[in-house]
Amino acid sequence: MFPCVQLRLPAGNLRERSLRQIWEESPLWLELMHLTMNDLDICRTCELQSLCLRCHGLARLEDGDLRGPARAKCTEALARRQVLMEKGALPQDYPVPRHLSAVRPVGTGVE
Ligand code: SF4
Repeated sequence: MFPCVQLRLPAGNLRERSLRQIWEESPLWLELMHLTMNDLDICRTCELQSLCLRCHGLARLEDGDLRGPARAKCTEALARRQVLMEKGALPQDYPVPRHLSAVRPVGTGVE
């Protein structure tokens, strides 16, 4: 069993253990259930948190670290920020996190 189609780490084997046992006892499952934003070194200080649909699986697929940023989601959050600024829903000086300053919003031709 994997926690998610994006997160291909084995949580347990249904031929060896029940779903309940895996759900309640798998170290991987327990780690994921208790993971909070405070455990994510970069994301926890990111100004785009409220605009981001961060994904542990994508973060691990991209850079091998499920606690790191998911760059595809960073790009989406930047695009969301840009649209909301253009619509006047965010102030024009809404910050770009320093770790994302080199990333250009989707559609600008430079990413
Ligand atoms: S935009 Fe990137 S760094 Fe910021 S919270 Fe989302 S995944 Fe993390």
